Amino acid sequence: MNVQNDLIARNSKFAATFDKPDMPVLPRLRTVLLACADARVDPAHVLGLDLGEVIVIRNTGGRVTRSVIEELATLSVLANILTEGREQGFNVILMQHTQCGAQRLANPELQAHLKDSLGIDVSDYAITDQASDLMIDVGRLVTASEIPDDVTVSALLYDVVTGVAEEIASVKSLGEWRSDPVTPGVDKAS
Ligand SMILES: [Zn+2]
Repeated sequence: MNVQNDLIARNSKFAATFDKPDMPVLPRLRTVLLACADARVDPAHVLGLDLGEVIVIRNTGGRVTRSVIEELATLSVLANILTEGREQGFNVILMQHTQCGAQRLANPELQAHLKDSLGIDVSDYAITDQASDLMIDVGRLVTASEIPDDVTVSALLYDVVTGVAEEIASVKSLGEWRSDPVTPGVDKAS
């Protein structure tokens, strides 16, 4: 099976009825969704996203890593430029899922093997408990000073068996998180 030929054929059908040539660069829902790369959790399908609505960033586990922080900070600057200073904030939604392959990366032996043989550190991607790892990721955004206060953050956990996305953290701006004395996921002692 030649997958690319198959996808080109599917695209021909899409292009035949495509009628949205004038969509703006900024997403209509002013939202960036971070999700796992797992093929079962495609946000366009499970959250019913339409073209032009949401910027989707996907990586292993849907974890907030250094590169995700840099992408969000860059998007914030771009939004500010594109709106001529009217907007720099947007919504960030973190979405992890059950039965995630990144749970295997929590295995210390696999982590050591990847580090020793390939020089790859997957400790930031590893998932041990989705609900608490989501709050750790909220904490990573809270402590990322490059991302402005008016960006909102919330979190969902998607169940690959039931298809249900459950709210783990409700919508709150980084400014609110930062002024909260008990900020989840942030180890004040370190
Ligand atoms: Zn996953």
